[in-house]
Amino acid sequence: MSAIDDLTTELAKLPGIGKKTALRLTYHLLKQPAERSLRLAGALQVLAERVHPCPRCHNLTEQDLCGICADPRRDASVICAVEEASDIGAIERSAEFRGVYHVLGGRLSPLDGVAASDLAIEDLVGRVTDGSVREVIVATNPSVEGEATALYVQQALTPSGVRVTRIARGLPVGGDLEYADGVTIAQALVARRDMT
Ligand SMILES: [Zn+2]
Repeated sequence: MSAIDDLTTELAKLPGIGKKTALRLTYHLLKQPAERSLRLAGALQVLAERVHPCPRCHNLTEQDLCGICADPRRDASVICAVEEASDIGAIERSAEFRGVYHVLGGRLSPLDGVAASDLAIEDLVGRVTDGSVREVIVATNPSVEGEATALYVQQALTPSGVRVTRIARGLPVGGDLEYADGVTIAQALVARRDMT
């Protein structure tokens, strides 16, 4: 396999990039000075080597604990559960939430083969068992899978007795949290409801 085929195959595995775009990007890189490709390669290598999930909340970080878990000004008694680490940025932009997070790592989706055991739900249950957590806000996306995931999380947390709330439906149904604006997310957080 040639170097061109090799890179094209790798690029085509990225979301939203088909074979044609992959080939165009490869030829684009070949037209640029070689040091630009090397810079891109270097950035990818550093990304792969340094970025890892936070052992407490599964947010992505280059440190031992992520910046939010390590920040003493954050209220560790309120945990906001989200599907992906990329959702955290969206909620942080709303400047409404001062608690900490828990990244589930996806949403329940039997069609895609994602079961509860594939998500960090047991881990979340473990975080609330010591009694220091007073509320878990479930901020999964307002899709069918996101709602099913929220319900599953709530049921898993019920034995612990912790208060479980769900963000309000101010978000467009099927819309991704990641793309919602800060004001919309702030309203959805303020208007959250108890799930029990
Ligand atoms: Zn963390």
